[in-house]
Amino acid sequence: MKNTPRNLPLNAYHAIASKKIRHIGTTHKICLIGRGCCPNAIKSHSVPVASLRGIAKDGHVYAFVSPVHAELQNIYNCEYQPTRLGINEASTYFGFCSTHDDAIFSEIEKRDVEPTDNQALLFHFRAYSRAFYQNANSGKMLHEIHEAQRPADHVPTEALETVASYFQPQVDTLSILEKHFERMRSDVVAKTHPKLEYLFIRLGCVPDVMCSTLLMPLYDIEGKLLFQLAKECNATCQAMSITLMQDSVGGFLLLTWYDKDAVASAFVRTFIRGGYDINRLIAVVFGATVNFFFSESWWEKLDDERREMLMYYASVLIIDPADTSRDHIQIMYQALVNHPATYVNWPILSVTKSAALN
Ligand SMILES: [Zn+2]
Repeated sequence: MKNTPRNLPLNAYHAIASKKIRHIGTTHKICLIGRGCCPNAIKSHSVPVASLRGIAKDGHVYAFVSPVHAELQNIYNCEYQPTRLGINEASTYFGFCSTHDDAIFSEIEKRDVEPTDNQALLFHFRAYSRAFYQNANSGKMLHEIHEAQRPADHVPTEALETVASYFQPQVDTLSILEKHFERMRSDVVAKTHPKLEYLFIRLGCVPDVMCSTLLMPLYDIEGKLLFQLAKECNATCQAMSITLMQDSVGGFLLLTWYDKDAVASAFVRTFIRGGYDINRLIAVVFGATVNFFFSESWWEKLDDERREMLMYYASVLIIDPADTSRDHIQIMYQALVNHPATYVNWPILSVTKSAALN
């Protein structure tokens, strides 16, 4: 087994795993609403292509994609370079058949965003469905990685044990995600409005960073551990969504979560208390989520120091499982508190909060 200069294990399984992870978003095409009763799911955008166009250069945006084996060593050294992605590929997944995709999401793709309660639910559902889609297929992927053919003289016992150790946690996580997804799915189909909380910030510009992503906050935005609160509330992977997009009148940031999610609520309350520090939230998006995209010109205008910080944040989710000797998530939250930086200058035009936050 090779070791990187920082003593992180590097093995052939990363090569197989990274290939599979890259393909996970394209190989399963079952509609998440009608399941087997629907035609194949179509490729749809979790961040609409019309929105991505607002930050695209020559039809491309930047993103951090799942690395191939050869890139891992650089990432372990926090040199995780973004990749140019065509906007027709960025943020896509095969979640819904054409009929359900149109019927469900037209209200957020073809109408102005206020947001209504239903729009807040739909943005949340969009982000959740993409994450659920990825997780629903990851169990199969883990088994394929475990059973993949390898050269006869290569028996990476430790790596096999590591992969096998993810089997049960993956099943447990999926079962929790499934429970929440099912509830959300019935709410969306029946057009009932569950108790959702949200914070909506209207921006005076097109945001240079866009996302439709889920955050399971382990720390609040001031870097304090939320684990105890999660334990007390028996919180279970409910997760808040973060949506950053362009719309017909400019741009917006929307944070949405179910009202019983005390952990997400605690995270957002510290964000409000800190005066809506969007720069810190951007660091959280880079450090603790996936499925975010940004403009090449914005990235090129940042100085080296800020680019390096953002590359560090983006590498955390890859370093963390590879180096269990330290809590990299905690180190990341400490970094964003101790090294504040201005990444964006987006004017805040207005803030709308759901009732419980007032
Ligand atoms: Zn369908």
